[in-house]
Amino acid sequence: MSREQTYNFAPGPSTMPVSALETAAREMLDFKGSGMSVMEISHRSPLFQEVFDGAKDKLRRLLSVPDTHEILLVQGGATTQFAAIPMNLIEGGTADYAVTGNFSGKAAEEAKKYGAVHIAADTADTGHDRIPTQAELTFSPDAKYFYYCANNTIFGTEWHYVPETVAPLVCDMSSDILSQPVDVSRYGLIYAGAQKNMAPAGLTVVIADKRLAGRELPITPKILSYKTMIATDSLLNTPPCWCIYMLGLTMDWVLAQGGVEAMDALKRERAGMIYDFLDDSRLFLPHARVDARSYMNVTFRTPSAELDAEFVREAASRGLKNLKGHKLTGGLRASLYNAMPVEGAKALLDFMKEFEHRHV
Ligand SMILES: *Cc1c(COP(=O)(O)O)cnc(C)c1O
Repeated sequence: MSREQTYNFAPGPSTMPVSALETAAREMLDFKGSGMSVMEISHRSPLFQEVFDGAKDKLRRLLSVPDTHEILLVQGGATTQFAAIPMNLIEGGTADYAVTGNFSGKAAEEAKKYGAVHIAADTADTGHDRIPTQAELTFSPDAKYFYYCANNTIFGTEWHYVPETVAPLVCDMSSDILSQPVDVSRYGLIYAGAQKNMAPAGLTVVIADKRLAGRELPITPKILSYKTMIATDSLLNTPPCWCIYMLGLTMDWVLAQGGVEAMDALKRERAGMIYDFLDDSRLFLPHARVDARSYMNVTFRTPSAELDAEFVREAASRGLKNLKGHKLTGGLRASLYNAMPVEGAKALLDFMKEFEHRHV
């Protein structure tokens, strides 16, 4: 099956803009007349420095990152930040964690190794189908930071407000970064694994308020210290060069589409048509509560695991790939990240209608 016949709904690594892949293919063997690919040039060369600065500048422009905040391009995935965040910010004190899904739960568990964790909210009792309201959040006195995950990739829920806190806000935006405008100045730290909306796996973007740097525990490895990484402009050691190059190409695409405002409109169009159908469906059941629905990951199921499997199989045979839900939840999931064309959501909608027609 060709790329033209395929829509990839994978949760991450996930679909990337075709224009970014085409540019990478064109420049693969000879990057800008160097006779080498980006994979083969020194990370200390002027040619790579241009790639690095360009990617960072475009990201700063797209997210309107203020001068108070530094953008770090690091390795280790979002999971490494589960440890790096408490190591750098908890200072032997307490941090508040809102647990609204798998990844925030894992982050809270990891943080317990480095300090005290107060669970500010936990939505496990209803299968993580909702987001707590501001009034439901509980805070510990003198919390070093408040942690939450903006979009719950596995459960398909999303915070539709920014929590009001006294402590600095720390947010995992792995699955919704660049899908909407964000007031970065409200955050102490934002981070995101790149493989959902930005680049291939292997790169993590950290946007840190520089005023929070320098508080790390003495055991913090240098490579995980925000202070060190800020001081070395993320070039303490070899960075994920290829991923940073791809990040730049994806940012070019986002800019050409009209930036995060355009991404915001697109996500509403894509997810909106699927949710509208789910609301009236006689076969499919949506997972998330209406007010907590994610624009990036739509989770749903049929009445049986067998029928779910049939849906996944048949969809794949028509080029609609990777619609199986996560093993924690079962069911079905359509990840509709920035690079998913509206036509992809439309093709999925048409297939869902037809499948329903045949099964009720
Ligand atoms: C995918 C994902 C992670 C885990 O990312 P890794 O890079 O695999 O560690 C964490 N948080 C969220 C919200 C995710 O979607």
